[in-house]
Amino acid sequence: MENINTTKQAFVGGEVALVGAGPGDPDLLTIQAYRFIKQAQVVIYDRLVSKEIMALLPNDCEQIYVGKKQAEHRVPQDGINQLLVDHAILGKKVLRLKGGDPFVFGRGSEEAKFVLKNGIACHIVPGMTAASACTSYAGIPLTHRKVARSCTFITGNVHENGALDLPWQTLNDKEQTIVFYMGIKSLPIIAAQLIKAGRDKATPAALIRKGTHTDQQVIRGNIGNLTELVTLHNIKPPSLIVIGDVVNTFSTSQLTNLGYLSPDKSD
Ligand code: SAH
Repeated sequence: MENINTTKQAFVGGEVALVGAGPGDPDLLTIQAYRFIKQAQVVIYDRLVSKEIMALLPNDCEQIYVGKKQAEHRVPQDGINQLLVDHAILGKKVLRLKGGDPFVFGRGSEEAKFVLKNGIACHIVPGMTAASACTSYAGIPLTHRKVARSCTFITGNVHENGALDLPWQTLNDKEQTIVFYMGIKSLPIIAAQLIKAGRDKATPAALIRKGTHTDQQVIRGNIGNLTELVTLHNIKPPSLIVIGDVVNTFSTSQLTNLGYLSPDKSD
């Protein structure tokens, strides 16, 4: 594909391209991501990259999986960093393909630092981050005038000691939307802490599982009942938790397809 933005550095052998693949739907790839994918000689990818996007890679591109759930273990971060360097040293065009945006909860910046420290140049290709794309496809705006004036993306991943020490008081603002990445396991703590910090337990909340995929699930509830809804609907990662009044901007009945809102008959 032609290079539309001619100021963007060309991809040459011996370099790494850190490319955001977006949350799943191949239609949400950027033109730039597509161009890098089409040139890849080796791809190092993880679990969140959809198979439809993997299908776009050249036939002769070597594929290396480093995600979780492969024989119950995964390549540790140091190993991934080293793989990038080792393949670049061989003179290959190395594609590091990551779900969403590589610089949003993706450890992409750690990988870029390591690659650069080893004297290898690194392209950064942003992708649509889950919080933005999955909410749009679920018919939930992140901000809405007079409803939400700010939006926070935050990780619900607990420390090794099991603690989740987030700045709960700063999340106690009725006009703030909160999107939790990696929050499903810690949802009971998240809900309890938000209520303790002062957020009304009736605040609308939603779970989005496999957002933008054809089997996307959107479950709506409130802070008080979201934990029960996870069990009831057997919600597993990768899922986002969205909290705030914006969740009810459009009704579930209006969302008739991914990112497709129909006029309500009652309107
Ligand atoms: N770099 C990625 C985030 C990686 S962290 C990005 O910018 O989107 C992994 C977490 O992202 C998952 O646990 C989940 O909370 C969220 N996530 C990624 N893709 C998702 C999807 N398609 N649907 C729902 N959540 C998703």
